[in-house]
Amino acid sequence: MNDQFGRTVDYLRISVTDRCNERCLYCMPEGYKGWEAQRDHLSAEEILRVVRMATELGFRKFRLTGGEPLVRSDILEIARGIKNFPEVKCLLLSTNGIRLANLAQPLRETGIRAVNVSLDALDPKIYKQITGGDVNSVLRGIHAAIEAGFETVKLNCVLMRGINEQEIWPMVLFAAEHGLPLRFIELMPLTRTDVLTKKNFFPVGEAMQLLSQRDELIPVLEKKLGHGPAKYFQLKHTGATVGFIGAMTNLHFCETCNKMRLTADGKIRPCLGQHGEIDLREALRNNASDERLRELFLEALRQKPMEHQFRDNYQPSRPMTAIGG
Ligand code: SAM
Ligand code: SF4
Repeated sequence: MNDQFGRTVDYLRISVTDRCNERCLYCMPEGYKGWEAQRDHLSAEEILRVVRMATELGFRKFRLTGGEPLVRSDILEIARGIKNFPEVKCLLLSTNGIRLANLAQPLRETGIRAVNVSLDALDPKIYKQITGGDVNSVLRGIHAAIEAGFETVKLNCVLMRGINEQEIWPMVLFAAEHGLPLRFIELMPLTRTDVLTKKNFFPVGEAMQLLSQRDELIPVLEKKLGHGPAKYFQLKHTGATVGFIGAMTNLHFCETCNKMRLTADGKIRPCLGQHGEIDLREALRNNASDERLRELFLEALRQKPMEHQFRDNYQPSRPMTAIGG
């Protein structure tokens, strides 16, 4: 599918739940109570129907995300079902890694190709301060994912000044040691907690500068690291592969956007950084025809904006955990 700006949109990120076993400062407001009722989450069957429609419209790449996708008890069933569609070229997963130690192998067996694991700090205290969780569980999960033989295991680190900036270099060394691509991500306004202040914002350009004082950054041009918005570099001496995702400071960020999102409660969200959503759940639960579902998808595509509104004093109506990362 091509949108009105000529971008090919063939990537659907599927949030399977708004629940999570962590509480990241930047994703979930403190004391958040906006959980959707379980009955309002799409069932595995409904998700698979949406995926079938999407493949018919040309979507080829899918990512399971959330909230935390591994808290959903039928996650393996969903992954297997998606992989059963012959048109699905690539199924990926984003996770906080907490449950990955036990699930990595069965997840790999469903055909999931690659996993992104969030890791904002190696220091247990800093990790806990940011996420509320235990970094050792995540590290065990990362090792299990490596053992399970995913094609790629990438690490994602959201940058926050005064909170995890001292973790940048240790993270690079960890990534180099284990041969895992590491991406530094700029904080986006997707929750309401105090963390979203100008004071906390740490631009990826500054992280690049910091790394270039310690090593030489050589641009990686091949596309094999993904077709996403990250700009990748190889560090000459440490050998780490490091990506930078600058949604706030890179003014060309949206030019190659190829994705839409499906929220856990069945809305198609054409852009993370604009409020618009198209409700599929009502149609799914009112026995809508395939044609009607296709129309709704195409409507979402028509509504896909040229760029996000994060730089325009954007006020999130739903936090990241409810939209899906
Ligand atoms: N629970 C999984 C995880 O943590 O990876 C998947 C969902 S999470 C919403 C997906 C990604 O979004 C994570 O890498 C997380 O760090 C990132 N994220 C969440 N809120 C963010 C924000 N406000 N700004 C930038 N990235 C954010
Ligand atoms: Fe949970 Fe992931 Fe959000 Fe953290 S970023 S609260 S792990 S969904």
